[in-house]
Amino acid sequence: MPAEKFDYVIVGSGSAGGAIAARLSEDPSVSVLLLEAGGEDDADEIKIPAAFPALFKTKWDWSYQTVGQKTLNGRRADWPRMKALGGCSSMNAMIYIRGNPADYDEWRDAYGATGWGYDDVLPYFRKAEGNTRLSDEYHGTDGPLHVEDRRYTHELSHAWVESSVDSGIKRNDDFNGAEQEGVGLYQVTCKKGRRWSVADAYIRPAMTRKNLTVRTNSFATKILLEGNRAVGIAYRQGGQDKTAHADAEVIISGGAVNSPQLLMLSGIGPGAHLREFDIDVAVESPGVGQNLQDHPAAGLLLYTKGTTDLAQFQTVGSLLKWKVSGRGPLVSNIGEAGAFFKSREELAAPDLQIHMAPSGFYDNGFREPVRHSVTIATTLVNVQSRGSLKLRSADPTWHPEIDPAYFEDQADLDAMIAGYRRAIETVGADPIARFIAAPWIPASLNPTDGEIVAAIGQLAQTLYHPVGTCSMGTADDSVVDPELKVNGVEGLRVADASVMPRVPRGNTNAPTIMIGEKAADLIKGAS
Ligand SMILES: Cc1cc2nc3c(=O)[nH]c(=O)nc-3n(C[C@H](O)[C@H](O)[C@H](O)COP(=O)(O)OP(=O)(O)OC[C@H]3O[C@@H](n4cnc5c(N)ncnc54)[C@H](O)[C@@H]3O)c2cc1C
Repeated sequence: MPAEKFDYVIVGSGSAGGAIAARLSEDPSVSVLLLEAGGEDDADEIKIPAAFPALFKTKWDWSYQTVGQKTLNGRRADWPRMKALGGCSSMNAMIYIRGNPADYDEWRDAYGATGWGYDDVLPYFRKAEGNTRLSDEYHGTDGPLHVEDRRYTHELSHAWVESSVDSGIKRNDDFNGAEQEGVGLYQVTCKKGRRWSVADAYIRPAMTRKNLTVRTNSFATKILLEGNRAVGIAYRQGGQDKTAHADAEVIISGGAVNSPQLLMLSGIGPGAHLREFDIDVAVESPGVGQNLQDHPAAGLLLYTKGTTDLAQFQTVGSLLKWKVSGRGPLVSNIGEAGAFFKSREELAAPDLQIHMAPSGFYDNGFREPVRHSVTIATTLVNVQSRGSLKLRSADPTWHPEIDPAYFEDQADLDAMIAGYRRAIETVGADPIARFIAAPWIPASLNPTDGEIVAAIGQLAQTLYHPVGTCSMGTADDSVVDPELKVNGVEGLRVADASVMPRVPRGNTNAPTIMIGEKAADLIKGAS
């Protein structure tokens, strides 16, 4: 069968790929093919904000695992990643955070990512955003990505914010505005109590266009190269091997795990490593799969009294209420409140974030709740450790070897210990204190450093933010240049979380959508 022809072929319909497909197809004179390995995003568990952990380890999940982590008592950490239209924007916890302005200035100044400083990217955050409360120089109100104040907030979240303010963290009602530091309730990417993914915001509205073809259950297996030019994609759909030809460009948006894997399978990567699997080296690119960064999180877990636990609302009544009105406890995104703060005063920007949940959330929510509890999860957002991702096979269906190297740099562990201590201070006084029955993990509210390290070893998990494996910049080992073009290959870009040279200080969905928005302009030649 002859290859189908399009101007652009995009691999991956996630936070970046979905936005790019929609923006490129605004021009009716170009044809766009969007390939997605997963299926349609048609489950209630996707739409119900509180249900996202129910997607883990199901057909919706790529179900990755890291290699055993020394600092996590040798545990392998589960890494859920969504396999469906919308990518991880259809599975995430919907917290709307952009990171700190210093993150983007660092991309520009330390990595040579010209055009990606905060002043350059702010217009793209605003272009994407449809915020229903905030409207000023930092916020957009008419972009496709709905951002709202959550319609349901548990009493424990309100109480924790108040107590945190009393403990000396200033209140912040806009973590994405003039200042990131402080404590408050998170805004969410929802519309009237229902998840608003990139599929809702970008892909579905664009699917009415004749020039956009969206193909689900289509797994890209190789980038097709002619000499040093990318000319298309080989993919599998319904048990058949197919090819799609790209007259203009191939854009890889498979996310921080799959994009470097696909590059390596196609002969673009560290030559010696590819030769271990008899893969012909088309382009020597030592940085592919390197520079892996993720945000680790570990909860301070406390038993509660005199209140409810979010987990007890998994009832038919709550489901009906949500279905009829988009209200009630199922509207909770679990991580309802949070804070940004510094482990050391002399730091230029926060290195720690808290995700507070009115339930005992640990081990990705896989554990049955044993007693009513609350979680104050310290999250390291300015990570020094660097991990890597390697192939385990030349077979595209094999999962790669993922090593985030959590806490291997001692500075990361020191910052987490400081964060844990600060988290404990936030629960010392009313109104939250009156809801605390007893500490759970660690077993004391006055732990030694050793007890905190033990709690981190027992509880630390991913906050689901891997980035950096196809890093952008001008260094010898940068995988893509500041226009996201893959070094050494014509007609090929990577655009997703993998291009971030450094993980931003905060959740990564909005930054990845920003990358998609800017990538579309770069491809159109308009940036
Ligand atoms: C459980 C969870 C909770 C999170 N919570 C938050 C949060 O609250 N706030 C926040 O800001 N961020 C959050 N994140 C992170 C955020 O969602 C991601 O950083 C972001 O979605 C990454 O976007 P991406 O475009 O890089 O990749 P993805 O969104 O993962 O998209 C990649 C897409 O490519 C597809 N794909 C991969 N390989 C192939 C292939 N070979 N062929 C065809 N298709 C392929 C995948 O199926 C997927 O649809 C969370 C993530 C998870 C998993």
